[in-house]
Amino acid sequence: MALSRRDFLKQSGYAGGASGVLLSAQRIGWAEAVDVLRSTMVRKSEAGTAKTNTATIDAERMRSIAAYTALTLETPNPVPFGADIVNTKTGERLMRGYNAVGAEHDPSAHAETRCIRLACQKLQGFSLRGYTLYTTCEPCPMCMACALWAGLDRVVYGATIADANRFTLQIQIPASEVAKRSDMTCIVDGPIEQEVCVTLFTHPNMQKAFRTWSSRRGE
Ligand SMILES: [Zn+2]
Repeated sequence: MALSRRDFLKQSGYAGGASGVLLSAQRIGWAEAVDVLRSTMVRKSEAGTAKTNTATIDAERMRSIAAYTALTLETPNPVPFGADIVNTKTGERLMRGYNAVGAEHDPSAHAETRCIRLACQKLQGFSLRGYTLYTTCEPCPMCMACALWAGLDRVVYGATIADANRFTLQIQIPASEVAKRSDMTCIVDGPIEQEVCVTLFTHPNMQKAFRTWSSRRGE
């Protein structure tokens, strides 16, 4: 028995949002409306796959920058903050770096700002349009502003400002809020692999190092 329009839409999972298709059916005929519905469903499923792929790639890249940052835990200047800048389309890495505030005597040498600076020097330009920044911790307002001025497509972070704030002083403005109030566009995604990134903060060597930081949380 042929399905009624409503049954078809119900079986297709469109019971709630089918009014547009039903209206189209009245306007352009049922057969054409079904074609529209089918193509919409394919597009939706393709978008779902793309979303899953992006999530997998983001998680892989976050674990990679976390592992790189963890190498500092065995050095005289352990830091939990590391950043990668990669080509948004190809994923090819342009620059990788970590926080060097202590090592370089530079309060602006946060991982993200430093990585952006080094990447721009490498490109001999000031624009990072077409690139994505991965960072083990949500960018502070200085770093997020720098990402916006650099024109980065996207910023993906691991731990949150709240996570970092358990151990160090922070400026309490979410990266997404800085982006929202900017005239420039930059997608902000996170937290991604948050637990992995938080272990950079809780590692015994990092805990020991925090005790020497002027920006540590007061006991
Ligand atoms: Zn910062």
